[in-house]
Amino acid sequence: MVKKTIYTTVVRRLDPLGRIVLPKKYRKKCEMDIKDDVEMYLEGSAICVKKYNTRCKLCGETDNLIVFKGTNLCPACVAGIKRLKV
Ligand SMILES: [Zn+2]
Repeated sequence: MVKKTIYTTVVRRLDPLGRIVLPKKYRKKCEMDIKDDVEMYLEGSAICVKKYNTRCKLCGETDNLIVFKGTNLCPACVAGIKRLKV
């Protein structure tokens, strides 16, 4: 049987600018560090926040990215673009 840690619900009040502090135990569990980028999206009426990993614009790969004119590309996609005959 797989042991699953259950986190209790935390209630926080938004400050006047709509901000909250993410609980440290949640950040640790999600491997978020101070100043990490996060992405947010809506899932029904829930606001989901997760660590943002920069991805290749074309395939979603996250390792060894190359930035070209402000766009993240992985080596495989760069190699594929080089093979295009234009
Ligand atoms: Zn790619």
